[in-house]
Amino acid sequence: MIEKIRVRYAPSPTGHLHIGNARTAIFNWLFARHYNGQFIIRIEDTDLARNVKDGEKSQLDNLQWLGIDWDEGPDKANSKYAPYRQTERAAQGVYQKYIDELLASGKAYKSYKTEATLKEEREAQAQAHQAPHYVYEYAGMTKEQIKDAQAKDEAVGLKSVVRFRVPENHDYQWQDLVKGEVKINSKEIGGDWVIQKADGMPTYNFAVVIDDHLMEITHVLRGDDHVSNTPKQLMVYEAFGWKAPAFGHMALIIKAETGKKLSKRDEDTLQFIEQYRELGYLPEAMFNFIGLLGWSPVGENEIFTREQFKEMFDENRFTKANAKFDAKKLAWVNNQWMRSEKEKVMPQLIHELVKAGLINDQQAKNDADHLAKIIEIAGVDGIKATSEIAPLAEYPFFKLHDISKEDRQSWLETDDGQKVAAAFTEKIKALAEDEFKADHILQIIRDLQHDLQIKGRPLWNPIRLITTHEVQGPNLPEILAVMGKDWTIKNIQLTVAV
Ligand code: GLU
Repeated sequence: MIEKIRVRYAPSPTGHLHIGNARTAIFNWLFARHYNGQFIIRIEDTDLARNVKDGEKSQLDNLQWLGIDWDEGPDKANSKYAPYRQTERAAQGVYQKYIDELLASGKAYKSYKTEATLKEEREAQAQAHQAPHYVYEYAGMTKEQIKDAQAKDEAVGLKSVVRFRVPENHDYQWQDLVKGEVKINSKEIGGDWVIQKADGMPTYNFAVVIDDHLMEITHVLRGDDHVSNTPKQLMVYEAFGWKAPAFGHMALIIKAETGKKLSKRDEDTLQFIEQYRELGYLPEAMFNFIGLLGWSPVGENEIFTREQFKEMFDENRFTKANAKFDAKKLAWVNNQWMRSEKEKVMPQLIHELVKAGLINDQQAKNDADHLAKIIEIAGVDGIKATSEIAPLAEYPFFKLHDISKEDRQSWLETDDGQKVAAAFTEKIKALAEDEFKADHILQIIRDLQHDLQIKGRPLWNPIRLITTHEVQGPNLPEILAVMGKDWTIKNIQLTVAV
């Protein structure tokens, strides 16, 4: 690639960072970093009613959490291109200049149709089985007549919007980086569209062109849902005689189970980065999983670091087929990452025990090594998010259940149960403190098997019950070894039946 790559991620601060938007950010970032280009953040906040408080902050925080950095953005201005928020650009008159230019050349016009009229028109079109489209209100009028009509509307206090005059029967065609050749005729646009709203704000499809041009964006990589916007944007480039950037529309993300488009309203599917963050998913895992949504590397491997993605990035390897969002795969990817980054994740895992009220901050600090061992034995390798560790470790490491009546009857009040419990207790009491290790404890149990000729559950369950007060759990000798002799003896003493 010869030209300098300049790509952007242009979030609207309307909510938290969605998986789909995170993917757009990640691939633009990879594109820039792979080719030594520049990655820019631009805030598209002209739809004032949809902006939410802290929407921008949350977007940027989550990008940072994912390990994405940017060369320019609202917090990192390059004076050549600043500002990076569209509302600020609008306030400086950046868009007005171009709107005025289009009005002067007749490529755009002021439109005074009221909402009520527009609604009537749409209803009539629906009845006539026509696709909704805007009907040009000044058809057949001379310039003078148009002026008069506008003056009248103005006089009765109507507010105007500015509409782009869509060229008739014109094909808009581009070589999409993902989809290949795409051609959309101007007939399919829905008629003259609004470029400036009554409140003076430019619309997305207009502002995006002005900004991409002024910011010298070379490639626009975004979600499939923007395909229908591209012809509108291309006609604005054409109207100004500007070269359009290359476009790429990444595959639609669908829910694996249903095959339906991932919908932000579907509350059964966690789809915001924040939600996974709260559950204790690792940023490396999220990046890894998202980096495979609609893009595939050479080979079968599925676990990659950001650096590897950067190296491997190839704009020719986007997939055309829908990208499946599979929460089970995400859980698997996160599990793989947790296993390989155990040391890094450990403080977070320990913190989960604090959050669950099992230990306090002081203990978390002082007993880190011991807690790490507990976490290991409790089954950290089987969990998909750090938040799952607390319920796993709670019993018997931090709390003890009461032994159930059934368990007591089945395993402790039998002859075999009594024999096993008494013999184990005697041997464990005799085991020296520094011998209190998993292999020695296991040896004691094996010896009991031999001496008493009892094996399997009749051997293990009484021992498990008196030491942990449960019949199930992780590796017993390891539990006892990590919790120590005092803990074990105390638990046995609490088991009144023995
Ligand atoms: N603000 C638009 C969005 O959030 C950006 C679309 C684009 O990349 O052009 O969808």
